[in-house]
Amino acid sequence: MRQNGIIVAIDGPTASGKSTTAKLLAKKLGYLHINTGAMYRAFALYCKQWDVTNPDDGQVASLAERVYIDFDEAGNILLEGKDVTDEVQAPEIAVLASQFSTRAEVREKMVTLQQEIGNEGGVVLDGRDIGTVVFPDAELKVFLVASAEARAERRFNELSTKGIKVDIATLTKEIEDRDKRDSERKLSPLRKAEDAIELDTTSLGIEEQVEKVVVLARKNLG
Ligand code: C5P
Repeated sequence: MRQNGIIVAIDGPTASGKSTTAKLLAKKLGYLHINTGAMYRAFALYCKQWDVTNPDDGQVASLAERVYIDFDEAGNILLEGKDVTDEVQAPEIAVLASQFSTRAEVREKMVTLQQEIGNEGGVVLDGRDIGTVVFPDAELKVFLVASAEARAERRFNELSTKGIKVDIATLTKEIEDRDKRDSERKLSPLRKAEDAIELDTTSLGIEEQVEKVVVLARKNLG
């Protein structure tokens, strides 16, 4: 066991319930939750603030080198010290994050930050490459899957409660496009680690989903 406990890696495609599951699991275990998607989103927001919206822009590498992204104790994402948790939820930022995350310089920076924050354990990380690249030695790896329709519906409900208006057909298309880009990119594509436990959440409610992962984590902790 590491100094602060185990590392739990939760990976899966867009809107498979990773972040909600990771957040609730972290709360139950008294662990820190690291939402790595929020880090890529915060970086996309940073680029946008510098008027860089093309992932091939030459400035992306220097922005990746300069950016400072962190979490506060409540798990809010901080960009240069400012809480941007709500701002990074915008669908436009999600698309930009997915595009910028194909760049090697961006991935290297985010992975280094994630390893620095999580290395001593006592953390639940959710993302696309946690079990394969960031912490291939994580003590517990879970890979969540769900149908594209179920995921679009969940994301629709989530955005609606935040007052963000989108139509479900556009959302489904965006989710499918992001799945494709995330699975087909050359660097750290979305894939299940060989030793990850796959959980299909299409017909599970969030409570059931979290409970299943909690059981796995408790088993792992002995
Ligand atoms: O998980 P979320 O939808 O917030 O992530 C936004 C985007 O960031 C994803 O579509 C993906 O391209 C990228 N990402 C990644 N690796 C991670 C987490 C997110 O490439 N570990």
